[in-house]
Amino acid sequence: MNDTAYAAFHRASIEAPEAFWGREAARIDWHVPYERVLAYEAPPFRQWFAGGHTNLCHNAVDRHLANRADQPALVYVSSETGAEQVYSYRMLYEEVARFAAILQAQGVKKGDRVLIYMPMLPEAVFAMLATVRLGAVHSVVFGGFASASLAARIEDAAPVVMVTADAGVRGSRVIPYKPLVDEALRLAGTRAPARVIVVNRGLAEAPMMKPGRDLDYATLRQAHLDDRAAVEWVESSHPSYILYTSGTTGKPKGVERDTGGYAVALAASMEYIYGGRPGECFFSTSDIGWVVGHSYIVYGPLIAGMSTLVYEGLPTRPDPGIWWQLVERYRVTVMFSAPTAVRVLRKQDPDWLHRHDLSSLRALFLAGEPLDEPTARWIADELGVPVIDNYWQTETGWPMLTLCRGVADLPVKYGSPGLPVYGYDVRLFDERTGEEVGPGQKGVIGVLPPLPPGCMSTVWRQDQRFLDTYFSLFPDRLVYSSFDWGIRDEDGYFTILGRTDDVINVAGHRLGTREIEEAVSSHGAIAEVAVVGVADTLKGQVPQAFAVVRDASVLADPASRARLEAEVMAQVAAQLGAIANPARVYFVSQLPKTRSGKVLRRSIQALAEGRDPGDLTTLDDPAGLDQIRQALSDVAASQP
Ligand code: AMP
Repeated sequence: MNDTAYAAFHRASIEAPEAFWGREAARIDWHVPYERVLAYEAPPFRQWFAGGHTNLCHNAVDRHLANRADQPALVYVSSETGAEQVYSYRMLYEEVARFAAILQAQGVKKGDRVLIYMPMLPEAVFAMLATVRLGAVHSVVFGGFASASLAARIEDAAPVVMVTADAGVRGSRVIPYKPLVDEALRLAGTRAPARVIVVNRGLAEAPMMKPGRDLDYATLRQAHLDDRAAVEWVESSHPSYILYTSGTTGKPKGVERDTGGYAVALAASMEYIYGGRPGECFFSTSDIGWVVGHSYIVYGPLIAGMSTLVYEGLPTRPDPGIWWQLVERYRVTVMFSAPTAVRVLRKQDPDWLHRHDLSSLRALFLAGEPLDEPTARWIADELGVPVIDNYWQTETGWPMLTLCRGVADLPVKYGSPGLPVYGYDVRLFDERTGEEVGPGQKGVIGVLPPLPPGCMSTVWRQDQRFLDTYFSLFPDRLVYSSFDWGIRDEDGYFTILGRTDDVINVAGHRLGTREIEEAVSSHGAIAEVAVVGVADTLKGQVPQAFAVVRDASVLADPASRARLEAEVMAQVAAQLGAIANPARVYFVSQLPKTRSGKVLRRSIQALAEGRDPGDLTTLDDPAGLDQIRQALSDVAASQP
């Protein structure tokens, strides 16, 4: 097929979505057939495969027992602990069905939430699959988040059970989880779960176990050795999981995903986008705490009957050849990573790539942040395989813009993630007029509903917030807003131009600047703060804070100023986690604001990046901007 053929394929998915997705639905098992491909009576809410009953765990695990019970399903490698283990589909089934029995014994039933706060361990994957096996709803929280972030997610999801571990490890540094979990549970108060299952890796000091609440996983596993929980068949629209993501407000949003639509969308993407075949090995370097981990470490590869490589560790340890060594050892055919990781590897000796037999690899997919041309070109040349950019979001669950090379042999254009994916009616809108813009014109990337299968159903327990957040771009028309700016060329290829809101992207991790601001201003000495994302050659962006102190006398002495900066950073790390830590905290006596009192974050960001501050017609007092300039130049002057 050529690109015209792709255009026809895409058009068919938009013009006749029911016929299109009806065909794709045959990729998964249905316990009860669906009555309607699409129920769309209350736009933009929709139900895919209405009336059908299925189960995500059955489709990822049990279904394969007939034909591939002894094939590897989960390959676990930790370069931190040296652990390496291959689980066949039969072994995976045993672990998952037993874990489900353990959860059941702790009272978990259909619809209940199970919160999973885990490092990259096989047990994290077992816990996810076990939860959906019971028709319960998992909420995985990234292990890099600290107690306040974790507590906010516990409060919103109100889980019945939590699954955690004694510790994670990063670059040989052990990070105890349990004290942080205990603090989060204390903060969550009455919303905290009654039971906490702890996987003890023996890494940290024996964790404090609260009698009656905390349960040791190894002991439970032994007690339930022969127990297997049956699959609970659920309606297609039944929630499979909640995954929290940042937005404009400080409070994270629980992105809710369905069951049947998600399974079908992932199954189709494994062929049309990733070209992964049953029996092969898929290696995604993400973390189960992010959407890529949900879709392409856990569910996508397993639904497709592939083996999934679950990796704990850095790309550079024990040496920068570790990923390529794994590609060689497990004959990885499809690999998925993020641009930041490739930028890190690019700083190493390229010989590390050439020491291994990478002949099994067919393509590398990169997602989560803008893929710059030099990075893409470098890795494509080194690997000698296509490097494909994917643009998508936690909300969509699977790619929205890319090149569907399983459909047609579309040419790569570096710097662009490509074309709208089948199922997505992607448009670019003038933010003010609501008119669509043409090639070469910047606009907000929007999607005309119905959103395809696999995309979020709603914000967990907050339908109105779903509407207000994502569908309020224009008063007279339902359009899903991606909150990203984009531009399209004559061939229809998109380029992403950054967020329209206060979300920043640090090494592919999405962070809300408002959350960081709340953590900074919870320090008693801070009166007010603005956090902005500043361009960084390695991580894409890093947060920088501009803080107004309550008592300016603290700043007179350089030592007390440095101490305050360190305290503020420690505060953010303790509340949100080190990933949210500002690269710098600048102290000022006022922030630039509009006459109506809004902080001019865009101007602050521009100055921090050495650019012109832009339109200042609404600026109230120029002294605010001067303060930012001064703080930046003071710090620059003090750098060695
Ligand atoms: P997340 O929800 O964490 O996956 O973050 C989604 C956001 O990351 C998007 O809204 C974009 O701002 C950004 N993003 C994801 N993938 C890409 C990409 N391929 N190119 C540019 N930006 C991307």
